[in-house]
Amino acid sequence: MNWEENVRRVVPYVAGEQPKDAGVIKLNTNECPYPPAPGVSRLAREFETADLRLYPALDASPLSDALAERYGVSRDRVFVGVGSDDVLSMIFLTFFNSHRPVLFADVTYSFYDVWASVYHIPYRQIPLLPDFHQDIPAYLSGEAGGIVIANPNAPTGLSEDLPDIERILQANPGCVVVVDEAYVDFGGTSALPLLETYDNLLVVQTFSKSRSMAGMRIGFCIGSEKLIGYLNDVKFSINSYTMNRPSLVCGAEAVRDEEYFQKTVAKVVSTRERAKKELTALGFSFPDSDANFLFATHREIPAQDLYEYLRDRKIYVRHWNKPRIENYLRITVGTDEQMEALYAALRERIAKA
Ligand code: PMP
Repeated sequence: MNWEENVRRVVPYVAGEQPKDAGVIKLNTNECPYPPAPGVSRLAREFETADLRLYPALDASPLSDALAERYGVSRDRVFVGVGSDDVLSMIFLTFFNSHRPVLFADVTYSFYDVWASVYHIPYRQIPLLPDFHQDIPAYLSGEAGGIVIANPNAPTGLSEDLPDIERILQANPGCVVVVDEAYVDFGGTSALPLLETYDNLLVVQTFSKSRSMAGMRIGFCIGSEKLIGYLNDVKFSINSYTMNRPSLVCGAEAVRDEEYFQKTVAKVVSTRERAKKELTALGFSFPDSDANFLFATHREIPAQDLYEYLRDRKIYVRHWNKPRIENYLRITVGTDEQMEALYAALRERIAKA
């Protein structure tokens, strides 16, 4: 026997590039272009490194308390993790444990099928409609082993109305329904109010986008006490201390500074709305994004060409060589200045066409 026959093999998720070059305009991984709240920087500077001697709090306080207060739920309805990737991965492992397939879109966050594969979970991808909206009726059979909807969806930026999310919940009392709201702070409507009615709903959010803390790795979900209890049982069977002390302190501070959060989100949204006009004028079309990125296709120039042209000018956007979306670029909304540089480079390339 060869040891390699027993390896858990998987084709890993491919994350966007993280170039080390200082001069790059980075519009490829949906980070926020603004710094975290001022209190976060202060706490990070003043962090008492002697405390690193001790393990962090098992209940993830003070972060879990700050989240519970901000979202008006008790702390035993909040679960935090090392980015929402960690939270989603735990959710897949905990709740998707049947022979029935888990359903998610064909064009969505491309980590979902990777988690399903690594945990040997059967899944079925539901094609988005031609306009890139979710095919809601395809989720209503009530036979799924689980459902995951990114809302707003990535990479399209489109969101579905809350009544449509509720139709999915109504039809599926027999499985856990996950709404991945990584981008919801920039538009769309959160499913959080539905938690009062559906004890099989988990709403997942992240600090990586609207709270400018991708580098700290904080994500969370809110659900019924029962769901969070099961999630904790699995998490505590793998690693009790996922969240480090600086993250717990800095994350709590980011949640408390509501004013800075609202201001930052408003700036990104205003730049996004201007980008819609600029890109339209340049010959692009795109779904009407509610997120901090635009998913744009040009009427003449192939996305691959544009991607390479921009990259040569140190402007990084995201491009996938995948069916249905190979002629699109996902462009993260940066600062106004970064976006001006993008428009200038695109104008230059288009003039050469
Ligand atoms: N969900 C979606 C839809 C995303 O686009 C991302 C970002 N790559 C994540 C979850 C994970 O983000 P993070 O782990 O940084 O919270």
